[in-house]
Amino acid sequence: MRKETIVENLNAVGERIVTCCNNCDRNPAEITLLAVSKTRPAEDLRIAYAAGQRHFGENYLQEALEKQEALSDLDIHWHFIGPLQSNKSRAVAERFQWMHTVDRLKIAQRLSSQRPKNLDPLNICLQVNIDGEQSKSGIAPQDLAALAREVVKLPGLSLRGLMAIPAERQGISAQQEPFARLASLLQHLREEFPSETMDTLSMGMSGDMEAAIACGATIVRIGTDIFGARNYSA
Ligand SMILES: *Cc1c(COP(=O)(O)O)cnc(C)c1O
Repeated sequence: MRKETIVENLNAVGERIVTCCNNCDRNPAEITLLAVSKTRPAEDLRIAYAAGQRHFGENYLQEALEKQEALSDLDIHWHFIGPLQSNKSRAVAERFQWMHTVDRLKIAQRLSSQRPKNLDPLNICLQVNIDGEQSKSGIAPQDLAALAREVVKLPGLSLRGLMAIPAERQGISAQQEPFARLASLLQHLREEFPSETMDTLSMGMSGDMEAAIACGATIVRIGTDIFGARNYSA
């Protein structure tokens, strides 16, 4: 994509975050913009980095590892946000700072034991299947607390909060409904685990970012509105 376009898009998303925070009385500094760069060439990430973007989210492990290699001269914070087979967990444990899609104990245990001891614990979000959709990953809300109780014990992980991808809804108030439920689940966990640094709600994409921010998002995951529409056949 054209350099000017990526930079303009990044600025526009940044302005939307500020406007939205002003409208809902939040501090924009509480919100991390995660640039979702799946299917994008490494040069697009380099352009965004030069414009100040530091957090990038990738869904496909092999693709992510290739970009990490190509961009190893940059100080990027890498977030894994895709589904992960447990036999691929080692590369995530070794090469990422964040993992947003933990939804079962087995993968958490593997990530913890594979996390190199010389690195800080891997930041984890538990993915919640907030709308109970058959097609989506994520733990059911009623099973979340039990999973969290086990995950907080794992030394290689730092449980930072929750992530969800709600079903598509039209209109900001309909979009807020699942985000508000995710925020309330996090609130309950914070009460049960007051000593943990559980401050993260990874929610909101290009189409529902404003609704997510209004409900307390601290990481918004934005792909299309930064890098343009994805073309999977390319
Ligand atoms: C692709 C993806 C996004 C970004 O979605 P856009 O609609 O392009 O902003 C965010 N989160 C996850 C988990 C994704 O897979």
